[in-house]
Amino acid sequence: MAGDCIFCKISKGEIPAKKLYEDDELVAFWDTAPQAPIHFLVIPKKHLSGPAGTTAADDQLIGKVLRKGAELAAANGAADCRLVMNNGPEAGQTVFHLHMHVLGGRPMTWPPG
Ligand code: AMP
Repeated sequence: MAGDCIFCKISKGEIPAKKLYEDDELVAFWDTAPQAPIHFLVIPKKHLSGPAGTTAADDQLIGKVLRKGAELAAANGAADCRLVMNNGPEAGQTVFHLHMHVLGGRPMTWPPG
C-alpha cells in the first residue's frame, strides 16, 4: 500500500466509492468522470503502479482483472465493451495504481484520441 494512493484508500474503504464488486483481491467501482454510459474501473487491492510495474508473480492477478472486468460488463448490460489500461503519463495515466477501465453502452471508435 502506498500511503497517499487514492485507489489503495478506496480498496481499504478509507474513502468512499460506488463499488459494484469486491472480493479478497479486486475491487470494481464506477468512475466519477464517466466517458461512456457504462464506465467502471477494476483494480487489484495489491498496490501496483501500473502495467509496467507488474512482475510475473502478478500474472494470475492481472488475468483476473481482465476476466472479471468483462464479466461485470456483461452483467451490467455491456457485453460488448472496451477494456483499457493506460500505462504512463503520455498514455493518459493519471492515477498510479494499476486499473482497468471498462467502457460500454455506446459505439466505440478507433483509434482512440
Ligand atoms: P487514468 O487516467 O487511466 O489514470 O484513469 C484514472 C481514472 O480514475 C479517471 O477516469 C478518473 O475519473 C478516475 N477517478 C479518479 N478518482 C476517482 C475516484 N475517487 N473514484 C472513482 N474514479 C476516480
